[in-house]
Amino acid sequence: MGIASINPATGETLKTFEALSGEQIAEKLQLAAKTFRSYRHTSFDERALMMMRAAEILESDKNALAKIMTTEMGKPIKAAVSEAEKCAWVCRYYAENAQHHLADQIVETNAGKSYVKFQPLGPVLAVMPWNFPFWQVFRFAAPALMAGNVGLLKHASNVPQCALAIEEIFTRAGFPQGAFQTLLIGSAAVEGILSDERVAAATLTGSEPAGRSVASIAGKQIKKTVLELGGSDPFIVMPSANLDEAVTTAVKARTINNGQSCIAAKRFIVAKEIYEEFERRFVDEMRALRIGDPMEESTDIGPLATPQIVNDLEEQVNKAVAAGARVLTGGKRPDRPGNFFEPTVLVDIDLNAPVSCEEIFGPVAMLFPASGIDEAIQIANATPFGLGSSAWTNDAKEQAQFIEELEAGSVFINGMVASDPRLPFGGVKHSGYGRELAEFGIREFVNIKTVWIGATDNTDQTE
Ligand code: NAP
Repeated sequence: MGIASINPATGETLKTFEALSGEQIAEKLQLAAKTFRSYRHTSFDERALMMMRAAEILESDKNALAKIMTTEMGKPIKAAVSEAEKCAWVCRYYAENAQHHLADQIVETNAGKSYVKFQPLGPVLAVMPWNFPFWQVFRFAAPALMAGNVGLLKHASNVPQCALAIEEIFTRAGFPQGAFQTLLIGSAAVEGILSDERVAAATLTGSEPAGRSVASIAGKQIKKTVLELGGSDPFIVMPSANLDEAVTTAVKARTINNGQSCIAAKRFIVAKEIYEEFERRFVDEMRALRIGDPMEESTDIGPLATPQIVNDLEEQVNKAVAAGARVLTGGKRPDRPGNFFEPTVLVDIDLNAPVSCEEIFGPVAMLFPASGIDEAIQIANATPFGLGSSAWTNDAKEQAQFIEELEAGSVFINGMVASDPRLPFGGVKHSGYGRELAEFGIREFVNIKTVWIGATDNTDQTE
């Protein structure tokens, strides 16, 4: 795929970009390595000042930045504004907390003094997806830069203007040239960059195949990676749950970002006692969502990011139907230009059909009835993924069982899975490894150095 901004609501190509040449890439890697040598010695206070400025720019320019996001990948404009605000939050969070997260930790041993010191690793390559085109980048960049690393961004090929705008924010915030660089490149160029000795480590947020590829290249080079991959999150509703709240949150959790979120609830597993009522109310609310121009504030569901995503989604729905599923609403493209797909509800899905546990990246929900908590957990865990999970119950014993037994990087009880700078974020199983955010995120790309100093010999040698 070429590097281009193509408006998903209209199909219009707005701007195309030349990929960097080998020579240009080499220059940027050289600059990253050079900048790291001095930047790593800046103080936390200096870095925090620049990171706070980045937060201010994100807030003051949020409307303009939101327009770039919506134009390139189709998220509703209100959500794009919130995304810019959330990026400001993560910048402030790390500006305020990085020094504490990375302070030396004294450990009592038989040494005179022993402690743990955290040091930056060097230039870190970030391979990022288009779905939260600012947030995914900032939740990597804020901790990485505050830790003293420098960043190299390979963004998704359909959001080049977002990638350039992010680089500009860090430049305007006062970070030295080379502390954060955008590389306009296709995915084929990733191997050469990651294999370059000047690049210390990599993080990838994206699909499973991309994660496998980056992890194997990094593995050959013995370089650290963090992988944030796909998900097929369960949303479980038990009889004691507040049904009004559960239904409304379920619709939001499935359709956020036009259904293209790794932590969107994708499989709704509902106790048999309340299944019928949940199904009826859920279908009504999905049907009531307003599809439209993502630039309009009243739009609930905008277009999917690319025509390929609509094709893939349609194929998944058709396969599910071929395997016996019924479509209760939606199931097709609406009659309008752009990459739109109707909010869809599928029921009677064969638990042995591959679609029952695949990631569905669009506004398509699958409903499953369950006889009791054990069956609900069994269905929830029957997927190769393990990113987030949400369980709705007011029974304390059930809550404890969900927390204990759900195979996921997070469990949200009576709430929707969402990232928060103060809490770690990441997955297990094929959803990846490593964590972003909180102190866990900032400690991924540092040398956790053990320092051991023998007891000082105080014997007077001079007599
Ligand atoms: P994608 O196709 O994997 O692309 C993500 C990034 O990886 C892009 O920059 C892409 O570049 C690059 N890429 C693709 N194949 C590559 C390869 N073989 N080697 C190196 N780089 C490669 O994923 P997407 O369609 O943009 O994003 C959707 C996926 O991301 C979903 O599975 C979603 O669940 C996951 N996601 C996960 C999280 C999380 O935190 N766990 C968050 C958001 C999204 P090009 O654009 O140039 O191909």
